[in-house]
Amino acid sequence: MVGAGPYGLSIAAHAAAAGLDLKVFGRPMDSWRSHMPPGMLLKSEPWASHLSDPAGAFGLDAYAAAHGLSARHGEPIGVAEFAAYGLWFAERAVPAVDERLVRSLRPVPGGFRATTEDGEEVRARTVALAVGVLPFVDLPGALRPLGTDGALASHSSHHGDLTRFRGQDVTVVGGGQAALETAALLAEQGTRTRVLTRAGQLCWNDLPPALDRPWWRRARSPLSGLGQGWRNWSYAQLPGAFRLLPAERRTRISATALGPAGAWWVRSRVESGVEVLTGHEIVRAEPAGGRVRLEVAGPGGTLRLRTDHVLAATGFTASSARLAPLDPEIRAALHTLGDGSPATGPGFESSCPGLFLAGLVTASAFGPSMRFVYGASYTADRLVRGVRRRLRRGGPVRVPGPAVGAEAGAVGPGAIVVGSGAVGSGAIEVGAAGARAAGTGAAGADDGRSPAGAGAAG
Ligand SMILES: Cc1cc2nc3c(=O)[nH]c(=O)nc-3n(C[C@H](O)[C@H](O)[C@H](O)COP(=O)(O)OP(=O)(O)OC[C@H]3O[C@@H](n4cnc5c(N)ncnc54)[C@H](O)[C@@H]3O)c2cc1C
Repeated sequence: MVGAGPYGLSIAAHAAAAGLDLKVFGRPMDSWRSHMPPGMLLKSEPWASHLSDPAGAFGLDAYAAAHGLSARHGEPIGVAEFAAYGLWFAERAVPAVDERLVRSLRPVPGGFRATTEDGEEVRARTVALAVGVLPFVDLPGALRPLGTDGALASHSSHHGDLTRFRGQDVTVVGGGQAALETAALLAEQGTRTRVLTRAGQLCWNDLPPALDRPWWRRARSPLSGLGQGWRNWSYAQLPGAFRLLPAERRTRISATALGPAGAWWVRSRVESGVEVLTGHEIVRAEPAGGRVRLEVAGPGGTLRLRTDHVLAATGFTASSARLAPLDPEIRAALHTLGDGSPATGPGFESSCPGLFLAGLVTASAFGPSMRFVYGASYTADRLVRGVRRRLRRGGPVRVPGPAVGAEAGAVGPGAIVVGSGAVGSGAIEVGAAGARAAGTGAAGADDGRSPAGAGAAG
């Protein structure tokens, strides 16, 4: 398991309960502990923010009860509390997590070889990747002249702490929850803050309705883990059915569903302390004496601004090409959808046999719930079933679509083989119940790839 956020931990809990030998890599709840500022709140309801274990024993409600906290509908919980919940979950439902990052992952006969950041090699027959959103950070191209060292421009997900901006002037780009809540937090700490968004107006979510509404109101507009209405309900409850929609429709929905909107509880905070420029887009940005000079196109023409820092809360675009830590030959061989994200089978297996994917990268396959913690329950259950099927039966995976780099002469999709032999000595195997795990020795001899043909797994 590569990744120890809500998806990785949930998958690990299901895999451990299924008796699979398992090794989990990644800093538990890292996005929530280090990439979101204190004071930020979850937009999702507490009842839609459970990590998943098969017995349902370690939900957010169980954590709240054990710690004398409230996790009630309509009462947002803080990201620090949610991170603490994830660590509590990890201690109880998941075997020891190895906090090292995996630097590279490549196919070898019998499975995969992962290399950790300090150079140790670990082998496994199957690998699940749940590396979250950070590999897919999106920065507007117009900010490029401001450099990449983060001094004058950065992405909102690079900040676990906003205090360095106290007393400064910051321009936040974006109109979604991350932009609006970051702007509110900046303004509240004494930063002169403006929000710049291309949208003609800001959108705000309403206070969610009570859970105990009369049945006819619920029937007209059901409440789900992704919000109100039948459409959101179907995204939340039927990810398997979503996968059966035509690929083009799925990618369109994935790009547009649940568009940018602020939570009801952040609205007054933005309206009271933040300058908002809707219908505006940065057309030029350049350093100017330690500050930033911006040219912004808007309904009234071009505006020239000076600011200390541009903070882009412009989201994430999942694509196979940026799927770290896969080695380039695996990335190039992955079948993709029209938006460049990886195609997967019903059990979350990619077109590379034995490689399973979870989280944001599967949003165009299984729908918008994969962008939220809510999708972790469905994913963990189906993905672990998929792993067990792979370990039992092997065989090729049927995942339609072209490979990312096929046209560039990259390795063809049939070239990655999960071999039928056992992995080398000293290997860690992710295997069926009773399979063994024997340390993390160096991998045996292999050339990384098998020439061609279907991926017949052992
Ligand atoms: C500002 C913000 C607010 C959000 N609010 C909500 C919300 O209220 N509700 C909600 O449901 N969702 C929210 N989300 C979406 C949220 O990111 C996802 O729902 C959730 O965190 C996805 O979980 P994940 O496990 O896929 O990824 P992450 O939580 O991002 O975890 C990724 C994990 O992968 C590990 N990792 C990464 N690379 C490697 C590597 N090479 N080797 C080993 N480990 C690696 C990291 O250490 C980490 O453990 C928010 C996102 C943002 C940015």
